[in-house]
Amino acid sequence: MPKILLVEDNEMNRDMLSRRLQRKGYTVVTAEDGEKGLLLTRSEMPDLILMDISLPLMGGWEVTRLLKADDSTRHIPIIALTAHALKGDRERCIEAGMDDYLSKPIEAQKLFDAVETAAHKSEGATGNDRPHIRAVDIDALLKSFDGDRELVSMLAKVFADSSPGQLSELDDAVTRGDAEALASGAHALRGSVANFRAEAAVDAATRLERLARTGDLAAADSALAVLQNEIEQLREELETFEQVSLS
Ligand code: MN
Repeated sequence: MPKILLVEDNEMNRDMLSRRLQRKGYTVVTAEDGEKGLLLTRSEMPDLILMDISLPLMGGWEVTRLLKADDSTRHIPIIALTAHALKGDRERCIEAGMDDYLSKPIEAQKLFDAVETAAHKSEGATGNDRPHIRAVDIDALLKSFDGDRELVSMLAKVFADSSPGQLSELDDAVTRGDAEALASGAHALRGSVANFRAEAAVDAATRLERLARTGDLAAADSALAVLQNEIEQLREELETFEQVSLS
């Protein structure tokens, strides 16, 4: 069974989470602050880390940044435990190199699902650092199209054909320093991804548009990288959906 490192300063949460995981048969090691979490990762080499964000001595973002910058620990999946389900939390987690996140209070089933997915990913780790959080909820998407798979497939195809060009136009706009073209391009792309109920991509496009409108092109550049990543993931998932639909 995988070994899990739980980094959490709240004693009650720490006890509850480790008890639940131990009952499922996982080996659990705990740390009550960020510094200890960092040290224990290096000495214990866990298969997976559950990381509270707000921690004494060193925050969860900082510990994650250090672990992901280190070749010997970058492959270990990290699931963030966040106190508030803030809009943009998911995006921040991905930017920081985290693999998934859970909002407190943590539901048992969500905890086990996330842990199983991450542990599985860790087994088959190939140095691929892409986050595995799903870009699109296919069930919800189909529901919003009254179960019309053909229509979803058609839209997915249009999106697969048009989005690379749209993204490269955004890239050009950043290079030229053309904030207006960047804002309107981000706005158009936001409309396309909204069709798929792809929340993270919608958030990323919204953020890019806002930064372009305020003329903050340096920040827009990194926001564009996040959007590119989200769209690539969305395209892959839609492609998988199409293959499944056809077979
Ligand atoms: Mn905390």
